[in-house]
Amino acid sequence: MTDVDLLVAGGTIVSTRGRQRLNLGVTEGVVTYLGPERPPAAQVVEADGLLVMPGGVDTHVHLMDPGSTEREDFPTGTAAGAVAGVTTIIEHAHGRPVRTVDDLLEKREYLKNRSAVDFGLAAHAWPGSTEVVADLWAAGICYFKLFTCTTHGVPGHSPAALKAHLEATARVGGVSLIHCEDESLTDAAEQVLRAEGRNDGGLLFEWRNRDAEVVAAAVTGIIARRTGARAVIAHVSHPEVAEYVGRERADGAHLAAESCPQYFLLREDEVLEHGALRKFTPPARMRSSRDESDMWDLLRRGALTHISTDHAPSTLEQKADGDLWDVHFGLPGLDSTMPLLLDAAAREQITYEDVVRVYSRNPARTYGLWPRKGELIVGADADFVLVDPAVRWTLRNEDVISKAGWTPFHGREITGRVVRTYLRGALSARDGEAVASSGRFLPGPGASAPF
Ligand SMILES: [Zn+2]
Repeated sequence: MTDVDLLVAGGTIVSTRGRQRLNLGVTEGVVTYLGPERPPAAQVVEADGLLVMPGGVDTHVHLMDPGSTEREDFPTGTAAGAVAGVTTIIEHAHGRPVRTVDDLLEKREYLKNRSAVDFGLAAHAWPGSTEVVADLWAAGICYFKLFTCTTHGVPGHSPAALKAHLEATARVGGVSLIHCEDESLTDAAEQVLRAEGRNDGGLLFEWRNRDAEVVAAAVTGIIARRTGARAVIAHVSHPEVAEYVGRERADGAHLAAESCPQYFLLREDEVLEHGALRKFTPPARMRSSRDESDMWDLLRRGALTHISTDHAPSTLEQKADGDLWDVHFGLPGLDSTMPLLLDAAAREQITYEDVVRVYSRNPARTYGLWPRKGELIVGADADFVLVDPAVRWTLRNEDVISKAGWTPFHGREITGRVVRTYLRGALSARDGEAVASSGRFLPGPGASAPF
């Protein structure tokens, strides 16, 4: 047998198709052997009793670097990810958006040696600036980020602007991640709430209301179908949005539906008690355990196609700086998302195979990073985690590695934990601590395409 650099022996390999006890061989950072034999290896890791899963591929992450690095930066955010079991991210930040090819090249250069995970970058689409679409796609962005409402200082796309953008991306085969809230509906609600002098937590879900999300997602779905463009509805917060996405998909739209743990596990009324620590948008909508089980059902069935963190941290001080109208939107998520998914598998709300599907394979496929990323197959990058599925532990603010320094899931008991993370065959985290590792830039799927 051909020698390998690293052999992971005796573990249970989890794929989307099932679990199998196989040995995994790695040579020069790539999976070169999967099978029952034990090829000679320079290094052997015994993994009896452990699950061997592909590393998390988190495709919606904001690390504020360069930019608001008092909130987060690449070294801290990606270390949090590595410890949790993430090996690939796609990042974009609203404060310093990538709008041109020069912006992309400059950011890529700045991030050299700043990432503990492999990373792709997304660009922000500005309404009316469709002339940059083809060049940005060919330069290697992983997707275009769009808003239907002016948010975080980024102007919103009207249906007309959205149509023009999606026509331009359809021509080059590009994909867009679209934040769906209808601006006329959030604006109208805001005017009423401000006139009433409202400043309580309850304003959040009246302002960022369900109608606004459903209307924008439905319009986006129609335009995506009619232009033939590939698009992802960002952070689907409740089942009704997934229904509209499902209808358009059944009619031929190339639509994916992303969701995040906060839309499964946090309740709508928590903002009344926790205020700014639950300020993110769309906000939490779950009102009952019935709602929660509906979301898990949609995830199992594939109506929700994948999970991301939408990691957008602020520290406790930053969250306390101003009233609910003024403080930043967003939650930290890189520390907690893989643990919460493993716990959902331990609780049998989903399976471990589902975890691989929704947090590795599907997101990698959606943005053209598969099969190099997202699945443990011969020829793929050896990005994987060793999971002890039985260990019980508690998510705590004290253990958060993100600069946020807190988690909305503080105190939640978790069953199952990533004990080691490997990036291209090199250890990147062990037992809750990051090990120095060097993430590489991942060009998007359009990078080599002619234009
Ligand atoms: Zn986001």
